[in-house]
Amino acid sequence: MLNQLTISELTTKLAGREISAREIVQSCLDQIARVDGKIHAFISCDNQDALAQADFVDKQITSGSACAQKPLMGIPIAVKDVLAVRNQPLNCGSKILGKFISPYDATVIEKLKSAGAIVFGRCNMDEFAMGSSTENSAFGVTRNPWDPTRIPGGSSGGSAAAVAAGECIAALGSDTGGSIRQPAALCGVVGLKPTYGRVSRYGLVAFASSLDQIGPFAKNVSDAATVLGVMSGHDLRDSTSVPHPVPDYSGALNGNIRGLKLGLPREYMIGGLNAEVKSAVDAAVKTLSALGAEVVEISLPHTDYAVATYYIIATAEASANLARFDGVRYGARAEGNDVLEMYGNTRGAGFGAEVKRRVILGTYVLSSGYYDAYYLRAQRVRTLIRNDFLRAFETVDAIVTPTAPTAAFKIGEKSDDPLQMYLSDIFTISCNLAGICGVSLPCGFTRNPQLPIGLQLLGKPFGEETLLRIAHAFEQNTAWHEKRPLL
Ligand code: GLN
Repeated sequence: MLNQLTISELTTKLAGREISAREIVQSCLDQIARVDGKIHAFISCDNQDALAQADFVDKQITSGSACAQKPLMGIPIAVKDVLAVRNQPLNCGSKILGKFISPYDATVIEKLKSAGAIVFGRCNMDEFAMGSSTENSAFGVTRNPWDPTRIPGGSSGGSAAAVAAGECIAALGSDTGGSIRQPAALCGVVGLKPTYGRVSRYGLVAFASSLDQIGPFAKNVSDAATVLGVMSGHDLRDSTSVPHPVPDYSGALNGNIRGLKLGLPREYMIGGLNAEVKSAVDAAVKTLSALGAEVVEISLPHTDYAVATYYIIATAEASANLARFDGVRYGARAEGNDVLEMYGNTRGAGFGAEVKRRVILGTYVLSSGYYDAYYLRAQRVRTLIRNDFLRAFETVDAIVTPTAPTAAFKIGEKSDDPLQMYLSDIFTISCNLAGICGVSLPCGFTRNPQLPIGLQLLGKPFGEETLLRIAHAFEQNTAWHEKRPLL
């Protein structure tokens, strides 16, 4: 079935006129019709629009225009509900945006479309990307395709589940503290968080602006490299995007990692690390060293402070960013007797419990009297965390860790315990605080039940090529990424 193929397989067939873009899209839509009742990866999907985009691509191919050379020609890519796609709903997994329709395309969407991609669907997510399980969505929980009684991870759980379930060929997500890498790990797909500044966030609804990045989910590393290459680059509409040239990420996948130095941070071997996760990661490290990489132990001494630091900085920024949802500018409104009451009623009815918790925490850490004790101090610790990484990267080319401390947990298991939930990001959060890049790829399965385990590789700022090269070499020598859930 076409929906089970990779980007490179599909573009080859399409260029050879063996198949049409419409057939590719139709096979994804058929799969959605077949399995999404069970998985709920999508909040909505505009089938007519997806098919119309496919017909447009097919027309370009038959007329022989340049489209046949485009890197994502005819490839259906699903989108997290936090990115603006012109004329499509944008809800951020929340009720507060009501019936809001995006008036424009995010820069990444524009780039995908001009590369020939068929951008479709609204993937479910934790409300405003706050969460690690996709249980904090106003549109219901997404289920893990490997075991529908379990969470898919979050906050980009819908995007990860959609790729794993073959409902799309690749997907976009956003990662503020692990929201691409953690669900990728828990769903058994590849997920990459680019370096801060690598990808424009214009058209991404902001959660924590100093941490947010947009990145791809894919079935394998080479597909992730293709999508990343299309998405990346400087954008005048996002002043935090960096004017570095975009390398040929696909060209970097040469299979050779001989002589590369990999660091194993001793602080990541924590008590809460599940034994099966640990042994899968240990085995992956052995594979990488058998491929010629040199593995050394390193230290990231401020690791212990990462989760606390993140939850101060991320909530502070969220409280400021979410002030705009006030019943005046966008979407839904709940009336009141005066304007203050209207704000209160709108936000009270529109936001879910976790978003309220974060806005309250963030307002608190920014308030006068507490600003110095919390926010300012967190910013200083953040610098220490970044320096840990920069120092480590003086001696190693990449860092290897588990992506998450456990495989997918049961729906409801942690939803009443925010602290436990926050700890599932323990290995992913530092990367965002440091502004570096990271990728998660499949490296094994737990035994009973069979659930995917993710390996995380962290790289230098703008070191995506090296990460992808290592990940690809690993993938070429293992078969974990070829396993698909039986739906
Ligand atoms: N799980 C983390 C949080 O709840 C990270 C979320 C994200 O990366 N968007 O904030």
